[in-house]
Amino acid sequence: MECVKIRVLGCSGGIGQGMATTSFLIDNDILIDAGTGVSALTLEEMRQIRHIFVTHSHLDHICSIPLLADTLFDSLVGDPIIVHAQTKTLEVLQNHIFNWDVWPDFTALPHKTNAVLKLNTMKAGTTAELGGRKVEMIAVNHAVPGVGYQIESGGRSFAFSGDTTSNESLWAALNRHDSLDLLFIETAFANKDIELARQAFHYCPKLLAKDLLKLKHRPQVCISHLKPGEETLIMKECSEALPGWGLKQLKNGDVFEL
Ligand SMILES: [Zn+2]
Ligand SMILES: [Zn+2]
Repeated sequence: MECVKIRVLGCSGGIGQGMATTSFLIDNDILIDAGTGVSALTLEEMRQIRHIFVTHSHLDHICSIPLLADTLFDSLVGDPIIVHAQTKTLEVLQNHIFNWDVWPDFTALPHKTNAVLKLNTMKAGTTAELGGRKVEMIAVNHAVPGVGYQIESGGRSFAFSGDTTSNESLWAALNRHDSLDLLFIETAFANKDIELARQAFHYCPKLLAKDLLKLKHRPQVCISHLKPGEETLIMKECSEALPGWGLKQLKNGDVFEL
């Protein structure tokens, strides 16, 4: 049976020494989000990326896509990277990043018919199958249209919430599967910032604890997207709100094999 390998390139709520924003490498060829964490990869490792699944259009999750296209340009001609996302997310990339003003339009370079980036519209609830790995897109509840992903291979599964606050759709989708082995879930703010968490459509420990009760599985749960400087407080509050879950703070460089 094939096992899935997940390498955490970035999982912080900001940047700074030892911190990088959201990006996970699945096996050697799939990225889930492309935040600043992508710069942890060597040129050779970057060249193996064939697919990027994007959760939403916020900069901390997409900023390495334009830079990756530029860095890898020559090797991508005739062998493009496919960027999978919802319609709205792809529109933002096209209109606000690849618009010749912010960055060249790598979805039309070197030619429209032979571009180094290929955009693929995906709908929440659908699944892409790539070499035995099933990647399901799941709607969540964020300030812009956002999704999470569930990845399954050889009967083992991993899910990532993307950026979200309280919702029903993520939990319902995960519960439709027989099992879940590993869950990365965001908790961006501490409880004192609960109003900010609601306004910015993120979790704080209190909101997360309510939602996690909706999950019928008992996966290993790792917390991501913590606000820089508040990691200790957020983790303390998460552990207090969810005793018995053995919650772990996700760290850059972590590797999981399912
Ligand atoms: Zn966001
Ligand atoms: Zn974010």
